[in-house]
Amino acid sequence: MARWCIGIDLGGTFIKFGLLDENRQPGGTLQLPTPRGGAEGIIAQMVEGARALMAQTALRREDLVAVGIGAPGPADLKRGVILAMPNIPGVADVPLARRVGEAIGAPACLENDANAAAYGEFCCGCGVGSRSLVLLTLGTGVGSGVIVEGQVLHGSHDVGGEFGHMIVQPDGDSCPCGQRGCLERYCSAAALGRRARQAIEAGRSSALVEVLRRKGDLDAKDVEVARKAGDALAAEVWEAGAHYLAVACVNICRILDPDLIVLAGGLAGAGEDLRTPVREHFGRLHWSLTAPRTRIELSALGEQAGVIGAAAVAWRASRQS
Ligand SMILES: [Zn+2]
Repeated sequence: MARWCIGIDLGGTFIKFGLLDENRQPGGTLQLPTPRGGAEGIIAQMVEGARALMAQTALRREDLVAVGIGAPGPADLKRGVILAMPNIPGVADVPLARRVGEAIGAPACLENDANAAAYGEFCCGCGVGSRSLVLLTLGTGVGSGVIVEGQVLHGSHDVGGEFGHMIVQPDGDSCPCGQRGCLERYCSAAALGRRARQAIEAGRSSALVEVLRRKGDLDAKDVEVARKAGDALAAEVWEAGAHYLAVACVNICRILDPDLIVLAGGLAGAGEDLRTPVREHFGRLHWSLTAPRTRIELSALGEQAGVIGAAAVAWRASRQS
């Protein structure tokens, strides 16, 4: 009889659930909306979703080994406590792992969501067979997870490897984190839309002027579509984003020398249209002391990286305890 871990991925819009067996094969999945109104609703939804997934897949309690939860925001990972959630108000100092684990009746552990996605790619995705990787999720912001010698890098204060807030432009754009010139201000999906809008507001002409008038705002998809149609401003914004990403990739190589850097999240949906210019800039910016050996890859697990990774983290924790 197969034994399973449940992975839970807490997002701002959805909570995703998925199964992973001891041979790293994924099983059933489920998705529920993230409830508003604070921590109790989120805990209840996690417990309900996990139970529903077990019922849906006829998974017996005795075949459930552990539960892993991936969540955004600062956390005390050893204690399994969420300290705050940037996009979900009313969540502070919540012992999420203990509460969910007790209700489901299995040990539970907590991991940062981008770390979980990185671990998912490492165990089951494009990082299989590697020793170290860095994952960058390019969405509203830029999240990141670091795997070194098979271990998730946490740092001394659980905020290690936050490459989205690596300064790539000294005295650049101010970031909500309090720094200036952070990577995520230049190459997140949201940043590309914002940069195109700012250029138009400063008087640049572009096919995006009409899109902005119609929608009231621009996103990375609008920029991607306009670029493919030959729009000069869109091409410029896209190229600048790829350039900053490549700057980050070179800096990551200097610090960690990983086997691969994985591009994930909404913007990575552009596929080769993103990876090719990033690789070109990376090759140009990389030092000449040795040839570039770190691969730049697109996420293999896509939107499932978070749940698969959270379940893989639970497997690792269950083997260490
Ligand atoms: Zn920042």
